[in-house]
Amino acid sequence: MKLKFNLVTQIFIAFVLAIILGSIFGSSIDFLKPFGDLFLRLIKFIIAPLILSSLVVGVASSSDPKQLGRIGAKTIVYYLVTTAIAIIIGLIVAFAFSPGKGVDVSSEGLVAPEVVTQEQQGVITTLLNIVPDNPFTSLSTGNILQVIFFALFIGIGITLVGEKAKPVLQFFEGFAEVMYKITGIVMKAAPIGILGLLAPVIGQYGLSVLLPLVKVIVAVYFACILHAVVVYSTAVKTFGKMNPLTFFKGISPAALVAFSTASSAGTLPVTIKNTNENLGVPNRISSFVLPLGATINMDGTAIYQGVAVIFIAQFYNLELSFMQLLTVVLITVLASIGTAGVPGAGMIMLAMVLSSVNMPLEGIALIAGIDRVLDMMRTTVNIVGDASAAVVVAGTEKESAQHST
Ligand code: ASP
Repeated sequence: MKLKFNLVTQIFIAFVLAIILGSIFGSSIDFLKPFGDLFLRLIKFIIAPLILSSLVVGVASSSDPKQLGRIGAKTIVYYLVTTAIAIIIGLIVAFAFSPGKGVDVSSEGLVAPEVVTQEQQGVITTLLNIVPDNPFTSLSTGNILQVIFFALFIGIGITLVGEKAKPVLQFFEGFAEVMYKITGIVMKAAPIGILGLLAPVIGQYGLSVLLPLVKVIVAVYFACILHAVVVYSTAVKTFGKMNPLTFFKGISPAALVAFSTASSAGTLPVTIKNTNENLGVPNRISSFVLPLGATINMDGTAIYQGVAVIFIAQFYNLELSFMQLLTVVLITVLASIGTAGVPGAGMIMLAMVLSSVNMPLEGIALIAGIDRVLDMMRTTVNIVGDASAAVVVAGTEKESAQHST
């Protein structure tokens, strides 16, 4: 317990130090970057083998297929409902803050970076893509949904085969333990990694870059915090029977890693570790809920997209009708599902939301310059939302989330 507390404190100190050093030294703090990149690589290399092994074990150890289906259904319903609430909160807060009124981005010397929009895939293709044509390619390219699919089927296969598949299960059990151990070792480097990731970002985004768009930043941060405090607290308390403070404290190391890396997929090993160890969610639940969440559940991204739509509409003096707002809500839920858990992905998906209501895509360029600052916060909410789902599902499965490990 003492050691855990120390790591959290160390991460927090690194966080504060990064802000101080970045503000003082500006871009000359860039020499710390390799430490950040190293840390990021260290946690990324764990992802595919960790999901594979822990999910196989998770599925194989819940012998009841009905239970598996129930966990899946609950998780998906929770993800959809919280994402819809997130976008509505984003829209309301954006209306309240009116971030797009009276902004003159060009005169502040902000260079609008070129925005690359990717071609949108159809729904059918997206769904088909969940099924890997070669699971080893999925592992090597880190396609999380495909790895989940592969792991689910190995787990189900092990259960169906029974006795003969025991060695396979034992292999994955041992392998999963090894991956947990590696995660623990890598986490020891978290403070220095966070310093290396965060200080250059703070150094790069001096106040002068942030000021003209400060209302957008405040609106996104405020809406994100509001969503976390209201929705997740209520959910973990009501369904997970967990004190919200315990929840937020337990997930805080992962939250800080998410804030520094702006990648939910990259944070996944830490999210799993915190959820299992600090929040007491059993592995058979977290190993399914969390990788899925890191891929499809993006409440922070939904909030950001809501605020961005209103910001851009106000900037161009466009009135949005109620039907258009409703379309924004629906499309944003889909867009956030389709957003990859990597830095900047949410901004690309904003194109889909804007085009659904015929808004100018150039609007994205207005806020692209500060995207990283927004991304850090939305990613944090994305992974805290995933962890809340794990606690809620564990609670409703009558696994006292706080006591069973
Ligand atoms: N960076 C976010 C994440 O990894 C996705 C986004 O850009 O909104 O969760």
